[in-house]
This record gives sequence, C-alpha cells and structure tokens, in this order.
Amino acid sequence: MSRSSELFLQAKSVIPGGVNSPVRAFNGVGGDPLFFESANGAYLHDADGKAYIDYVGSWGPMILGHNHPAIKQAVFDAAERGLSFGAPTEIEVTMAEKVKALVPSIEKVRMVSSGTEATMSAIRLARGYTGRNKLLKFEGCYHGHADSLLVKAGSGALTLGEPTSPGVPADVAKHTLTAVFNDLDNVKGFFAQYGDDIACVIVEPVAGNMNCIPPVPGFLEGLRELCDQHGAVLIFDEVMTGFRVALGGAQEHYGVIPDMTTLGKVIGGGMPVGAFGGKAEIMAHIAPEGPVYQAGTLSGNPVAMAAGLAALSLLEAPGLHKQLDATAEKLAKGFKAEADKAGVPLTINQVGGMFGFFFTDAEQVTRFDQVTQCDLERFQKFYHLMLEEGVYLAPSAYEAGFVSNAHTDKEIDETIAAAGRCFAKL
Ligand code: PMP
Repeated sequence: MSRSSELFLQAKSVIPGGVNSPVRAFNGVGGDPLFFESANGAYLHDADGKAYIDYVGSWGPMILGHNHPAIKQAVFDAAERGLSFGAPTEIEVTMAEKVKALVPSIEKVRMVSSGTEATMSAIRLARGYTGRNKLLKFEGCYHGHADSLLVKAGSGALTLGEPTSPGVPADVAKHTLTAVFNDLDNVKGFFAQYGDDIACVIVEPVAGNMNCIPPVPGFLEGLRELCDQHGAVLIFDEVMTGFRVALGGAQEHYGVIPDMTTLGKVIGGGMPVGAFGGKAEIMAHIAPEGPVYQAGTLSGNPVAMAAGLAALSLLEAPGLHKQLDATAEKLAKGFKAEADKAGVPLTINQVGGMFGFFFTDAEQVTRFDQVTQCDLERFQKFYHLMLEEGVYLAPSAYEAGFVSNAHTDKEIDETIAAAGRCFAKL
C-alpha cells in the first residue's frame, strides 16, 4: 500500500472522510487521494516521494509557483515580529491601499480569513445596505459554504451530488434565487418577478466551480444594467479570478465594474486570507462605521498580510499576466491538438491563467447543463492516467485548472506529451 493510502486510512478514523475539505478526498475521480509533503515551483511531491507537475496550485493561490522565496521570506520576517496582535497594524493599511490601487471597483476593503467569509459578509452587507432580502446567484457557481450560498452550488457540492446542502433551512434557501449562468433573459425573469426585493446579484465573472466557463459577450454588461435598473448591488466573486485573469481581475479584463468584489486565494499568497470591498458608500454600512456586523479575531493577521502583500507586489511585474495567459493558452492548444490526434472529442475553455477541458462533442461549452452532460467516465480514466504520468490535475470534472508563473515550456511540453499518451489510451 502506498504511504498516501496508509495516511488516508489513518485520516478517515479521525477526520470525516479523511480530509478537511471535501474535493480533496477524490470523490470526483475515485481512488485514494495523494498526501503531499512538499512543493516547489510547478511541482508537488507526494508522501511516496513522487513528483507531479501541478495544475491545482492549492486551488488558485500559487499563482507565482509553490514556495516562492520572496513570499516565504516575507512570512519569516513577519513571524519574527509576532504572529498576531488582535489590534491594528501598519501592514493592513498598506494591504488595503494596494488592493484599492489594483482592483477597479474597490474604494474601501475589509480583510477576512477565507473566501467563504468574504462572500458571506458581502451578502450581509448588500442586504443591510439595501434593506432587501433576496440574493440572486447562478447554478453551478460556488461562493463558499455560507447557508444562503449553498443552494444549487458548484465545486465540491456538485461533485458530491448535493448542490443544495442538508442543514440549510428552507426559510433561508427561499431567499436565494438561482439563475442560469450566461442566460440574461432568465435573469431578467427573476428581476421582473422579485426586482423590489433583490438585494444583490453575486456571480463568478468567469465560472470556475463548474469547470471553467467564461461569460458570453454581453452577459456581465447585462447584469450591470439590470442591477442599476433595479437598485440591486452587483457583486463579483473574484476569489478565483482576482489577480489571475488580469492584475485587476475579471472586472479589468472584461471592463465591467461591480459595486462590490470578494477576493481570496491569491490575495493571501498561500496563507488564509480573503477580502471584500467596493464602493465607499456601501462599505460605510459595515461595523464599526455602520450597523451591519462583521468581525474576525485573526482578520488582517500580520503574517498573512505579509505573504499576501509580497504576492501582490510580485504580480505587478510588467508582462506577468501576459505570460500566464500564454502558458495556459499553450497548454489548452496542446491538449486540443493531442485529443484531435487521438480522435477524442474535447473542448477547452481558457481565460488568462485559468482553463478547463470538457470531454464533449459540443464545439463551445457556455452553460452549466452542458458541463453535467460531459463524459465523466472518460474524465476519471484520463485523470488517473495523467496521475501515473506525474501530472496533478484538479480531482473533479467541475473545477477549473490553474497555471502558475513557475510553469515553463518544459513543464507544459511534458504535460502535453503526457496528455497525448493518455488520450490515446482512452
Ligand atoms: N468563491 C469562489 C469563487 C471560490 O472558488 C471559493 C473557493 N473555491 C470560495 C468563494 C470560497 O473560498 P474559501 O474556500 O476560501 O472559503
């Protein structure tokens, strides 16, 4: 038995399902998950000493590659000065200024410790600000595991076939309206019926929790218009896309500016950090400036801020996002060419450093129902073949893939060659 499988057995006796976050358990692909010991650049090393080219990147944060020396040093330096004060520090101000400078919609920002906290708080604020109850989200989008948002959710909820979780009271879920991603007419229908009580629309501007689905032209613009018409707050959940599809996130990439933005993953450089921010007028309603309550003992933690700030500063390097985009594009084109050679129908979506591949005949994948109709068995077989080849992809057909700045031509060429061998075996 491999060391990973031994550890998984041991883990299952003390941790539910053997993991601290569901998708890690390989439910989406079958078999035992790998346990990892270390990571560097584009590579992960498992408990059995095998190296993998990594396309998960800790689900997004490792945009500069694993264990980046400058980020690690920033963490060491901050740790020398103390791990947590529970009181204001200068680095929080620097971080807020940096986020404001980089993200077009953000005039004021509050730091939290996860993406879940960011979206949960943003929604409470939108409700408090508008005095309305309902929120509109999209089927297959995932915004963390707050009650209101675990209704027809993507990511692990989708993998486990429980997109609406038991434990979410019907009285709470009834305020969550779930629309079809990339279908503006569907959204208009909800506004026609509930427009006066919709506090906010929350959307992943590039959906990354039902594989990877970019917005069709006009979709984000249409949401902006509808929210303006009906006085609803438009929230872009950029936990995945922030600092990734462009330095200023999807809002910069697509030129549509929301009222509020939620951030996570990259903003912590690998440490637990999230943030929500937006128009100063809206943010003024959050405590202690306003009455909508939100707080956190470890919010703005100095070590986490140091890691995040180091990551964001590195991301400002000119040309970095162009390179990320080129790397992901090369990977996507390579996968497609190899699949064509092997006669395997495959469609690829890619935006900046994010990508997704679909085992389907469809020429374009733009909707959630198309994702669920893809050949899951083929995906699972391909997944394990790639693992044998030393390529670590997201262990679910419903997650986006990520490249980092540490992925060079060597890793991409090796991955494409490996994919070619695997496609031929399908
Ligand atoms: N929003 C989006 C778009 C996400 O992808 C995720 C996590 N995958 C979250 C929110 C929740 O973030 P966290 O897991 O840090 O709570």
